[in-house]
Amino acid sequence: MPDRAIALLCAVPLLFAAPANSAVQPADLIVTHAYVVTMNASKAIYEDGAVVIKDGHIVAVGPAAIAAAYSSPKTIDASGDIVMPGMIDTHTHASMTVFRGLGDDVPDRLQRFIFPLEHKVVDREIVYWGALYGMAEMIQGGVTTIADMYYFEDEVARCAQKIGMRGILGETVLNAPAPDSKEPYGGFEYARKFIQDFRRDPLVTPAFAPHAPYTVDAEHLRIVQKEADALDVPILMHVAEMPSEVEDIRKNFNKTPIEYLDSLGLLSRRLVAAHCIFASDSDIALLKARDVGVAHNMVSNIKSAKGVAPAWRMFNQGVRVGLGTDGPMSGNTLDIIGQLGYVAKVQKLANHDRNAMPAIDVVEMATMGGARALHMEDRIGSLEAGKLADVIVLDRSSTTMTPFYDVYSTLVYAASAHDVRTAIIQGRVIMEDRDIKTVSVPEVREHVRGLSRKILAAVGQ
Ligand SMILES: [Zn+2]
Repeated sequence: MPDRAIALLCAVPLLFAAPANSAVQPADLIVTHAYVVTMNASKAIYEDGAVVIKDGHIVAVGPAAIAAAYSSPKTIDASGDIVMPGMIDTHTHASMTVFRGLGDDVPDRLQRFIFPLEHKVVDREIVYWGALYGMAEMIQGGVTTIADMYYFEDEVARCAQKIGMRGILGETVLNAPAPDSKEPYGGFEYARKFIQDFRRDPLVTPAFAPHAPYTVDAEHLRIVQKEADALDVPILMHVAEMPSEVEDIRKNFNKTPIEYLDSLGLLSRRLVAAHCIFASDSDIALLKARDVGVAHNMVSNIKSAKGVAPAWRMFNQGVRVGLGTDGPMSGNTLDIIGQLGYVAKVQKLANHDRNAMPAIDVVEMATMGGARALHMEDRIGSLEAGKLADVIVLDRSSTTMTPFYDVYSTLVYAASAHDVRTAIIQGRVIMEDRDIKTVSVPEVREHVRGLSRKILAAVGQ
């Protein structure tokens, strides 16, 4: 009897699905016969699954049979491939691809090398072509959303529009003249205009990016918060990254950097705090209580030898933690997939615990965690009906992807950016079978090569 009951129950949806034609719904794109990793709350996986997309949104996710209820002008047969939500890079400076590999392995690099170099050479052209190249690299690595902070951020926004990438893009504010402003704090004026110009863009969310607590004073940090509240935009900032930042704030205010920012009213759901290497248990409680997003940049942090952020502890305490690459002068590459293994392994080492930071949690941080860190978890980060259609397809036939037992383990410890085959952002196929359709990557690379000759000449002087 129970067997018959189950058979009858199973038959019911089939009966309803039968009179197909009249019930067929129009869609724009169907990705089907894939190993679908949803990253939804129950971590549902469909071994032979489909994702149906219409008007930039996901309208259905489930077993491949659901596709029969939709008609679509385009179907991607992803047999044997992994389909999952796009990766989210919660902290980067994409334009700095033009500086990749310059001045590595030297101490005190930010003040001695990077700031003077940027002051000397950064202009609109460098920002534009550097960002476009960086975005191409990120899309090739399965990244569909970024949080970027730099100068001339309107140029970065134009790149996002051109290539079709989603981003929270922050214009830098700091206490010194900058490449795009002659006066200290000139970034304010720039940011105000940038925010007005791009605030209604479907892909770009403009933001303020006060550089760090040690380059923006208390008075101007308060102004940032007030204006961000008035304009309803996010704030991107480097936080608790530098040993000197910790020492100076202790000396001057007898606080940790995170307590100091809290005393100024900066800790809020607007803030995406990059790094948080030096976060005590009480700092972590503050980040959680104030609903702050944290961008964990493992590879940048270990290369700069500053320390290991307590990312595992933050994640377990329910802080909104996502992953970031930092700029390509810091982490050198912009692919999140290449960082996943480091995130897991360094936390295991730092915690002396092989069980720490399991692969499933690392993939969570790269997708839903990133969405939470950017306060966009209602729109991106997982494959669920109603969310924006940011979807990637990974080839499962590469050498390191076989054999395939545990998808999370495979993604974290074996996959590489080169396994990303296709990237869809807001329902639009930006890359298919490794071919980026919206820009000519060889052409952008040529521009970057030309700029690198200019930069090398300037560095030599
Ligand atoms: Zn950074």
